[in-house]
Amino acid sequence: MDCLPIEGIPVSDTSEFAELYKDLHQHPELGFQEHRTAAIVADRLAALGFDVTTGIGGTGVVGLLANGPGRTVLARADMDALPVQEQTGLPYASTARQATADGQEVPVMHACGHDMHTAMLLGVCARVAGAPATWSGTLMVVFQPAEELLSGARTMIAHGLYERFRAPDVVLAQHIVPFPAGTIGIAPGPTWAATDGIRVTLHGRGSHGSQPQAAVDPVVMAASVIMRLQTVVSREIAATELAVVTIGYVRSGTKENVIPDSAELGINVRSLDPGVRTRVLAAITRVVEAESAASGAPKPPQIETLYSVPVVFNEPEATERTVAALGEVAEVFDPGPLMGSEDVGELALAAGAPMVLWEVGCADPEIFARVSSREEMLALMADQPVNHSPMFAPVIQPTLDIGIDAMSAAVTKWLPPQS
Ligand SMILES: [Zn+2]
Ligand SMILES: [Zn+2]
Repeated sequence: MDCLPIEGIPVSDTSEFAELYKDLHQHPELGFQEHRTAAIVADRLAALGFDVTTGIGGTGVVGLLANGPGRTVLARADMDALPVQEQTGLPYASTARQATADGQEVPVMHACGHDMHTAMLLGVCARVAGAPATWSGTLMVVFQPAEELLSGARTMIAHGLYERFRAPDVVLAQHIVPFPAGTIGIAPGPTWAATDGIRVTLHGRGSHGSQPQAAVDPVVMAASVIMRLQTVVSREIAATELAVVTIGYVRSGTKENVIPDSAELGINVRSLDPGVRTRVLAAITRVVEAESAASGAPKPPQIETLYSVPVVFNEPEATERTVAALGEVAEVFDPGPLMGSEDVGELALAAGAPMVLWEVGCADPEIFARVSSREEMLALMADQPVNHSPMFAPVIQPTLDIGIDAMSAAVTKWLPPQS
């Protein structure tokens, strides 16, 4: 499918970016190891006339294209892949393996579409660089490492992203999700959830399985904590507010007739409102400490924060301006807030700039062709392999062209030609 024409920007053949996407898909790289991807990005940006700097926050790449007076727009793509064994059966499926930071060899797959984001943004750079009469200002593109580790944005900021270059007037980003390809989802206000990862270690006293009276059993303590934590959202958070508490793992013990001396829980919290987040985190601490005390634990539990990323907040006025541009290239709808998380919001917070993040549909539109109601569409969407699934298989077109068109339109909306 040809890309849709944008006023003032010539339609171009995007097949080279489809090839680039397949190449990136076959060569996925884990967070902070995106050396090959970053080199490809840097070469292409330099060839387009961008002022390119590599190695920002590890493997991050920054490109600046100045074209007269006006705003500075930051457009961001993430580059990293996931430790997932691809099972799509696609001809360009990944068979790559890589060592994680702790030396474990794992299969690697672009299961979240960051290869598509990278190909899209390079397409945008080519499009915008090729049409200098249609815009004025500075385009700052950021190819970010390690989004999946929720630390790439933070690391680039800590590495002087805004001191070495400049703080932008707006931060724009897009993420593919299995909405029907051809559509764009965008919601003003809180759009992607805050996420907190917590590790809890409960301390008990070990004993022989036949001598429970000599033990403080951390398995029972963990069971009580797990059940009690189910009431945090159901009993302490109003029905009109949103939060998720998931206990992703519980580990304790080695043998059925040994009472272990500790148990570990991995907890993930999602929230859309800072006040709700504070209440949920406080409730988790309260429940863990109280259950530990109720069991007579020999020492208090440890509660450690593994990661913490704030909500992505789409600034309403900036979102409205951007929606006007996106509506020229695709069918735009408001999907409401999503409970997935993204660290791109940190780029906007650190710059003191408004954030606008939208979703580009990547599921085969044929699947949705006979849908007659919104409910049917939502049910079908729920059946599609989602981001992080080993079966996640975006259709390349029209997804790629819509992404290039959408970001190009948004960038030029924010950087109008000066009269
Ligand atoms: Zn992801
Ligand atoms: Zn992602």
